[in-house]
Amino acid sequence: MVNAPVAHPPAENPFDTAIAQLDAVAERIGLDPGMRDVLRHCKREFTVNFPVKMDDGSIRVFTGYRVHHNEARGPVKGGLRYSDHVSLDEVRALAMWMTWKCAVAGLPYGGAKGGVIVDPSALSAGELERMTRRFAAEIGLLIGPDEDVPAPDMGTDAQIMAWIMDTYSMMHGHSVPAVVTGKPVTIGGSSGRYEATGRGVMFVTQEACKYAGVPLEGATVAVQGFGNVGSVASKLLRDAGAKIVAVSNASGGIYDEAGMDIDALIAMPRDRASLRFDAPGRRITNAELLELPVDILVPAATEGQIHAANAGNIRAKMIIEAANGPTTADGDRILRERNIYVAPDIVANSGGVIVSYFEWVQDLQSFFWEEAEVNSRLERIIKRSFQEVAALQAKESISMREAAYVLAVTRVVEATTVRGIFP
Ligand code: NAD
Repeated sequence: MVNAPVAHPPAENPFDTAIAQLDAVAERIGLDPGMRDVLRHCKREFTVNFPVKMDDGSIRVFTGYRVHHNEARGPVKGGLRYSDHVSLDEVRALAMWMTWKCAVAGLPYGGAKGGVIVDPSALSAGELERMTRRFAAEIGLLIGPDEDVPAPDMGTDAQIMAWIMDTYSMMHGHSVPAVVTGKPVTIGGSSGRYEATGRGVMFVTQEACKYAGVPLEGATVAVQGFGNVGSVASKLLRDAGAKIVAVSNASGGIYDEAGMDIDALIAMPRDRASLRFDAPGRRITNAELLELPVDILVPAATEGQIHAANAGNIRAKMIIEAANGPTTADGDRILRERNIYVAPDIVANSGGVIVSYFEWVQDLQSFFWEEAEVNSRLERIIKRSFQEVAALQAKESISMREAAYVLAVTRVVEATTVRGIFP
């Protein structure tokens, strides 16, 4: 197999995108300038530089972040990302998006995010564990079941959550399962959490198809990013009757008009960051995947993939934003002008945090649910959230993203106002 060129990191600063989205909704709802200023800032930004002993005996210093955007509605919640492209501005943007995502789903959480600048596939298992444990100890000042509850994101998984839970528990002298979500089920993880974000993407796609008048049965789908979210979404959309014709990862994509064998793709051995896979079909670049003539495009990789330079070339009828921030503000404007239906990230990928909320509740009560109960509660909450956004979108004749932001920001402002400004 010849590897296609590695996809480039987003050109636009994601925090600029997040601020532009907030400013637009602040104008729309006539938000008080002081309150707008509160929401434009992240409440806490924590940077750590920490040493790790590598396998060859050398010492390497890593940089990591944990950012709390807003905690008016409850303890903060948000994933941890391991990637070469992590930056403070990326983490700030992701933390702000978590605030809106929790608010639009009606969860009692504020928004947070964290990350380490590292390519996890370049570390041995031992190095990855030592780095994770030291990072967990460093951010141990901030995290806790009542304060800040991390979860997996790009480049992290259930094993990494287990090491964080164990490190935090060692520091406190007793087991504290509720300090992270997305853990293995055997130590207090929730049934259905691994699939939750992809399952939520599938539920949102079902709803969006009804509103956009695109039948899901037989619809062609291209999925950018075949990691946790992209692979599960592909499988469940296929099960719901869609035809997945293209998938990709950071090293490039594969296109097969006849439809891909998703189970075979999932079963293929992949490295930790899933940077390579082989399958039948034509090799394409990530840029080509985004512009394929499909019914539904599912960006499930990273930020800033749909932007001013390619939004005019998108041929999909519908975009389901499984990734966080896959569309820049300029890209979004062009999609709106072209009447392409967009299910925005803060609704489309909220299945992960919804089931993380279930996991946290189960841990706090030490009372665990069957997977069928998890999945049906997820379906109820995410479809209700989608319908609330769709109702506002229709009433105000605005886009789904604008409607989701109006709902989310209004709820956060209400919470901040009723709590008052300390002192
Ligand atoms: P992952 O690490 O499991 O998979 C990411 C996939 O994207 C991999 O296949 C990787 O090779 C690919 N990728 C990375 N950079 C790329 C690029 N520039 N171009 C094309 N492909 C690229 O991560 P994940 O957990 O599936 O997360 C994917 C997206 O979904 C992220 O935006 C994340 O923030 C968002 N998200 C994840 C969750 C969750 O529960 N894991 C919840 C909500 C949102």
